[in-house]
Amino acid sequence: RAVLELIGVEYAYTRTPALRGVELHVDAGEVVAVTGPSGCGKSTLLHVAAGILPAQLGVVRLLGYDLTALSEAQRAALRRRDVGVVLQFGQLVPDLAAVENVALPLLLDGWARGRALRAAAGWLDRVGIGQERDTLAAELSGGESQRVAVARALVTEPEIVFADEPTGSLDQAGGFELLELLVGEAGEGGVAVVIVTHDRDVAARADREVRLLDGRLDMARLTR
Ligand code: ADP
Ligand code: ADP
Repeated sequence: RAVLELIGVEYAYTRTPALRGVELHVDAGEVVAVTGPSGCGKSTLLHVAAGILPAQLGVVRLLGYDLTALSEAQRAALRRRDVGVVLQFGQLVPDLAAVENVALPLLLDGWARGRALRAAAGWLDRVGIGQERDTLAAELSGGESQRVAVARALVTEPEIVFADEPTGSLDQAGGFELLELLVGEAGEGGVAVVIVTHDRDVAARADREVRLLDGRLDMARLTR
């Protein structure tokens, strides 16, 4: 069963397209690594697949929904409820505690505060930073922030998680840990994962690698 399908997807920020005719099919529980040189369109692919950016041409079907038929608000609601997203930048609210950041998607979905905070604390334990539950996000290290972001992406028990691996030199091991965490949880829960990575070890751990070159799928790699 496909949880994500991209058919003939194009996206351009400027006149030069960042994605050209991209086809991608991800099954339930599948872990897919998206790789390729800097600037080849990996982040754009992730943003379009998650419905953060609208495809300008082609079809994106996410969890059975044709994203091109949904408004921006409908795509945001789908993401909040049924999709986990771990992005590189600016995803935690700095003046909220770690546990409040994780609870946020549940609170926005109408959960009672106490129940949401208990669920969030449980996820912080699962990703190994239960002891930081009351620390303000602004005071967390990069690696801790990533873990909180992973907990927040999983707290709604989504069917698919999108992750843009940290690439900074401070986080050499960070990407690998992030994938370990996601794959560990995905393996248990049957969650599909699409992760953008520069790291060969991370890519090797995925069920499948999809390589982009200049906004296109690298056909030489599709036989794998
Ligand atoms: P990658 O994630 O593989 O590094 P990106 O998806 O970030 O690649 O970028 C693909 C191309 O789109 C690059 O040429 C990049 O410069 C360009 N690009 C990315 N974001 C923007 C933006 N917000 N505005 C204009 N061009 C962008
Ligand atoms: P990565 O290579 O890890 O995807 P980038 O450094 O390419 O990260 O992109 C970081 C941020 O800068 C993204 O939000 C992207 O959209 C933006 N960006 C990248 N290229 C451009 C560009 N040419 N013009 C404007 N924004 C860009």
